[in-house]
Amino acid sequence: MSIKIQPEAIVALRGFEMPERLGFGTVMAPVMFRARYQDGRWSDGELIPYGPLALDPAAKVLHYAQSCFEGLKAYRNGNNGVGLFRPERNAARMAHSARRLCMPPVPEGLFMDAVRSVASHCANLIPGSSGESLYLRPFLMGTQPDLSVTASRAYEFYVIASPSEAYHAGNMRLWVEREDSRAAVGGTGDAKVGGNYAASLQSIAGLKERGYDQSLWLNPGNRHTIDELSGMNFFAVMDGALHTPALNGSILEGVTRDSMLTLARDQGIEVHEREIDIDDLLALVASGTCSEAFACGTAAIVSPISELGDGDRRYRLSQAPGPVADKLRRALLDIQEGRAEDRFGWMQMVPAASF
Ligand SMILES: *Cc1c(COP(=O)(O)O)cnc(C)c1O
Repeated sequence: MSIKIQPEAIVALRGFEMPERLGFGTVMAPVMFRARYQDGRWSDGELIPYGPLALDPAAKVLHYAQSCFEGLKAYRNGNNGVGLFRPERNAARMAHSARRLCMPPVPEGLFMDAVRSVASHCANLIPGSSGESLYLRPFLMGTQPDLSVTASRAYEFYVIASPSEAYHAGNMRLWVEREDSRAAVGGTGDAKVGGNYAASLQSIAGLKERGYDQSLWLNPGNRHTIDELSGMNFFAVMDGALHTPALNGSILEGVTRDSMLTLARDQGIEVHEREIDIDDLLALVASGTCSEAFACGTAAIVSPISELGDGDRRYRLSQAPGPVADKLRRALLDIQEGRAEDRFGWMQMVPAASF
């Protein structure tokens, strides 16, 4: 697979001026990657200037939501250049999401070429302070213009990028969502698809006014065990051991989740992947046995949870931020930013492109 670098992309990169404030996911890099799928095969990828897409109004994605996405970060990694964190996991997960929606998986080689070429061309745009990164957003969608309910025969795969500050969600207060579900059993709960996010918005919409930040989703089948947050996985610390809901089909398998589990085991912390009943957890928070809980995902890495709200009852976690979350977050960031040895082979280094 070869990548064409459009001359206009280089012009866009040369002319780009970094704004002073970055925020998270709001400033876009001036280039993006595109590959097209038609008649059963993928085109070569191209690096092109960032800009609006031309989509037929009857494109399947707009009506039947045939689309999935990924999120990963490129870090400034010590003096070694740019490091991508476990991108092969995102490639595999995107293939899984694509299959669930009857889309052709983006071949791993094409996915890797895409994220590597965007990261290497945007190397100079990666801000330099700890926690800052280039956030990469690959996405795939069905573009065939046709209103019949069948899988699209044409697809486009893009990778856009956003130079971003560290994302601090701060201490989060979670609302235990007992009514809505974000994904159905047998549906798309373990796929990274926009529809799951759309289904979560109603629950989140009124939260701030009521003093909460995010919804905590229960399993849509049994409605009493914990699944996760809308875009982050859930962890609780009880008697020094780390507990997280076992993967069950309606939980998205986070790369950060897996990394936390690996780091915790490595540090001698006891780890349990299991069903966690919400009523049991709330009782353990009330009794103080559960003193710490946190959520994790690529964007914020680790966000402490300070409170769980259930109906008109509020349950406070005594340690937010807590020591376990803090230790794991540091260990992960030290690997990502090249201060600690990459003992698990998580970083993929990318040389900066010269142009
Ligand atoms: C992306 C996502 C996560 C976090 O996954 P990471 O790979 O750690 O970023 C967790 N839950 C949902 C629903 C997600 O979409």
